[in-house]
Amino acid sequence: MPLFSPRRYQPPFYPAQREESLPIRVFTAFERTSKGWLFGCRMCGNCILQETAFACPMTCPKGLRNGLCGGATPDHCEVDPSRPCTWYVIYNRAERMGRLDKLLEVNAPIDGSRSGHETWLDMIKFWRKQKQGPYPLDFLFNRKKFNQEWDRFFYELRQPEWWQGDSLYHPPAYEEPVSLLEANLRTGVFVTTGEIAPPLGASGDIIFKKVGWLKEYVTAANFTDNASASARMNSMASSKICLDAGLEPVMQLQARDRSRVVIESDAMGAAGLGVRNILCLSGDHHRFGPQPMSKPDQFDMDAVQVLWMLRRMRDEGIYLDGREIKQRPRFFLGAAASPFGAPPKYEAIRAEKKINAGAQFIQTQPVFDYDRFTDWLEALDKRNLLDKVYILAGIIPLKSAGAAHFMAEDVPGVVVPPEIVKRMDEAGDKDGQQEEGVAIALEMIEKLKNTPGISGMHVMAVHWEAIVPRLVEESGVPRPVIQSLPEVERPVPTEKRPSAAAQPVSS
Ligand code: SF4
Repeated sequence: MPLFSPRRYQPPFYPAQREESLPIRVFTAFERTSKGWLFGCRMCGNCILQETAFACPMTCPKGLRNGLCGGATPDHCEVDPSRPCTWYVIYNRAERMGRLDKLLEVNAPIDGSRSGHETWLDMIKFWRKQKQGPYPLDFLFNRKKFNQEWDRFFYELRQPEWWQGDSLYHPPAYEEPVSLLEANLRTGVFVTTGEIAPPLGASGDIIFKKVGWLKEYVTAANFTDNASASARMNSMASSKICLDAGLEPVMQLQARDRSRVVIESDAMGAAGLGVRNILCLSGDHHRFGPQPMSKPDQFDMDAVQVLWMLRRMRDEGIYLDGREIKQRPRFFLGAAASPFGAPPKYEAIRAEKKINAGAQFIQTQPVFDYDRFTDWLEALDKRNLLDKVYILAGIIPLKSAGAAHFMAEDVPGVVVPPEIVKRMDEAGDKDGQQEEGVAIALEMIEKLKNTPGISGMHVMAVHWEAIVPRLVEESGVPRPVIQSLPEVERPVPTEKRPSAAAQPVSS
């Protein structure tokens, strides 16, 4: 077990191209051993220990570099219950050290060309080259100056030119709403979105059918992206079918199974198809999917990094590699939040990081425990986040007592109070249980409608989508108020394409 971090989940990286010089190879082996013993270091070559209270985030099974996942609990990691959650260790230690706010900085994904190489000599070279300290004598005689230079030095070291992560809020750099969801949220009326599970088969007919049930009642339909690491029709194709059926989609885009290149490409493809709302997720680990499980290291980025990258594609017109995007995509970016996982003060830091990175709306885990939900809202309010993001509270109408037990006992990050489970247990037969599930959902919607900071609800009645119209009708929440937007500009030819002027002109 390393001295300062939980043990490694995966082995250390080795360089894509071996160092030629024997002394450097020996030094690298020494660094790998000593940092492995101290920090569980995987030699990612992109060290952020300074920021993470000296617990290595690469010991997290998902390799998350920007905070905990939605299924984290104080007891153990959701992926490997035999180990503590790395990010709990980080938050706890950072809090004890008075460095919680250091965790707000958006860390870059790994630069693979540095993985497996030594970093200590590189660090010394960088220190000598920039000639700005920190200097050992200042540690003795001018501690304030030393600390400032120390923080600056490590900031420059860990934030590469191609990323430039920080801990600041970056509001969207556009004026007019880009989607109906955004337009409706801006009106201030209570907005409803609904989730539709993408089909298991190749036909989109079922999406047409479900959109038919929902489209009068919800502003947008949300399509999961191979949730629980289990394959279905992909979210982009489902979103396009939804658009064709006459309802605006929210395309979930998860980082698992995708490299940064594929994430950029899929987001750009979605924009080209007319998909505007993108919900960025890290994704469930393959452990939660069917067998055989794929290799465990399937995360190139996390949700915060995806938000940061897509926001910069939209607002700054650049790909991660610095290439310019002439026809910028128009995204309304969202994120998920887990009000019931970690203590609200930690979850609020995670939410702030997503909002700073680019999240404009947040969908939460299903709310069954209103008091704990409002504790989380208060934590967000303390960080002045409620006027920077639209919050859609998650609603799941329970279809059976078995579903209530499953949610209560087996779904990490979801809290179902015992009295709710008891109500479902005592509700009689199948019909009685469904009625009780609807009654519980309606009671929660009634509370949420009148909760400051809540902009709407996201109904996750997966495989029971037909219940959504009834929930909307009986709860009295409004139907979508804005049904159309001015025509979105068509893409114009880029300079590299042959323009109309370059074509032969016939008189
Ligand atoms: S619970 Fe999630 S964030 Fe925590 S160590 Fe496990 S995978 Fe990482």
